[in-house]
Amino acid sequence: MNHSRILVVEDDSAVRNLIVTTLDTNNYRYLTAPNGKTAVMEAASHNPDIILLDLGLPDMDGVEIIRKIRTWSDVPIIVISARSEDTDKIEALDSGADDYLTKPFSVDELLARIRVTQRRILGMQKTSSVFVNGDLTIDYAAGSVTMHQEEIHLTPIEYKILCLLAKNVGKVLTHTYITHEIWGSSYENEIGSLRVFMATLRKKLEGQSQKQQYIQTHIGIGYRMNKM
Ligand code: CA
Repeated sequence: MNHSRILVVEDDSAVRNLIVTTLDTNNYRYLTAPNGKTAVMEAASHNPDIILLDLGLPDMDGVEIIRKIRTWSDVPIIVISARSEDTDKIEALDSGADDYLTKPFSVDELLARIRVTQRRILGMQKTSSVFVNGDLTIDYAAGSVTMHQEEIHLTPIEYKILCLLAKNVGKVLTHTYITHEIWGSSYENEIGSLRVFMATLRKKLEGQSQKQQYIQTHIGIGYRMNKM
């Protein structure tokens, strides 16, 4: 059973039909928009649960649509883009998109991203002073982190980064966003430092086990904490 309603913004009718057929088969409800103007209108009047947004639209840039929607709504936006350039994805993520898919994508991949986003929305509704994700627990009040019930000792910066990722679990955070949140600026050397802190943090979290990947690297873009 799936009650989520998804707004599909795509000007290419073949791709739009593929997405809509996939959603239909998987019991999602959907709305469609072939251009930016309709997308903004549909988003405003129907409050969809998730938006799938093609970045290259005939009348408006996808990033502009994200900025417009973000002025009134936190609805999760998954960007779908034919452009493989990282800069477009980074701009979309920094403008408030939650995730991205690069064309051509598989139907399974699309469904997986939608599920991740749905789990993230559910997780956000539970506000608690304790964060639990798989075997990872963060007790915000105590400032402690445990993995498999064993306490992990983190430096203050590692802890800050981990909390930021946890707060945004399931969402890709760009290097610029993270460094800005942690250090207040995002110069090249901070992005370098972030890489180092992230490496030690992952080692502490994941140890030698390759099976459980809590933090996913998006090369050239940023990091995401996976929802386990
Ligand atoms: Ca397009």
